[in-house]
Amino acid sequence: MKIETIAIHGGNVVTDTLKPIIQPITLSTTFAHQEDSMLYTRLENPNRKSLEAVMASLEGGADAAAFASGNAAGNAVFQALPAGTHIIAPDDMYHGMKMLLQTVHAGKLDVQFIDLTDKENLRKAIKQNTGLLWIETPSNPLLKISDIKALASIAKENDLKVVCDSTFATPVYQKALKLGADVVMHSSTKYISGHSDILGGILVTKAKDDLWQNIKNVQGLAGAVPSPMDCYFLTRSIKTLPYRMKAHAFNANNIAAFLDNHPYVEKVYYPGLSSHQGFETAQFQMEGYGAMLSFLIKGNANEADHLIGKLKFFSNATSLGGVESLIERRSKVQVGDPGIPDQLIRMSVGIENCEDLIEDLDQAFKETFKP
Ligand SMILES: *Cc1c(COP(=O)(O)O)cnc(C)c1O
Repeated sequence: MKIETIAIHGGNVVTDTLKPIIQPITLSTTFAHQEDSMLYTRLENPNRKSLEAVMASLEGGADAAAFASGNAAGNAVFQALPAGTHIIAPDDMYHGMKMLLQTVHAGKLDVQFIDLTDKENLRKAIKQNTGLLWIETPSNPLLKISDIKALASIAKENDLKVVCDSTFATPVYQKALKLGADVVMHSSTKYISGHSDILGGILVTKAKDDLWQNIKNVQGLAGAVPSPMDCYFLTRSIKTLPYRMKAHAFNANNIAAFLDNHPYVEKVYYPGLSSHQGFETAQFQMEGYGAMLSFLIKGNANEADHLIGKLKFFSNATSLGGVESLIERRSKVQVGDPGIPDQLIRMSVGIENCEDLIEDLDQAFKETFKP
């Protein structure tokens, strides 16, 4: 099966004798005792099974585990590690995940943030107690591209487990397990949901190894699991994921080119531009460049806010991956982060008509930088 077909059929688990075409929502928290039945919804539920099945299939993995948020998925990995494990993570890591490591896991795990765009930095950082390499590519919000294959091969030489946050790429554009990662992570709040109305997270594993068994224990026993409703709607959203991604990427490619040629834009961060730091690696490891981009205007934070305020089709809000375009000045969210310039604008390109979006940007620039 090709990806569009998996997206539509990979999540069907027939549990009803009437054989409905669409998987019913099973709200029951408990199931009649019988051989092979499910026991209790924290551990297993037909809708979660559907979601996990289609995600495992899309990523080419052996199993998947769904969580109540992307951070809960990441947290399950961190909780599955022995106390005191040294973790190597990217400097440009999704800031919520970075904060999770720096607060909840402070003193329990030994975390080091480095620039993973240079694989030599990884070699230098590995210590006796290093157990995990966390990759995020493309990264949030600077769209840094890390070479999954090269990093995973160094990790394997040193017996490290590799987890890749593929939220920006989705399984449509990046297959991290095939490139050497052991586990791939998604915030399903983003493109997997696609409509900015569900919070969720997913892990997919290459093998059902000891780490995976620990992760499954965290999922079932700590219980940060999504509801059957959420699982149902995510499985439904996934049916259109491959086509949504094509539209997202088409729009983002055109908007990146528009911004790149704009006299009031200093720099565009989009892996599909040949000027981007990771363009060659992205060409190799991605099948498309996604629809997240950041840019620096030739102006200050006030002008960035003014520009954002003049837009009609881009809502000024955080998050990403929905069909509607979103935009924000990133340092409003990542307050005080020295890596984020004040005038950096992050955009989640939606699937509205591309000409409408570019016209909207054009008029907002003209309003902001009047001659
Ligand atoms: C949003 C996001 C997360 C966290 O997911 P939540 O669903 O918000 O908990 C992790 N990584 C990336 C890259 C994200 O964009």
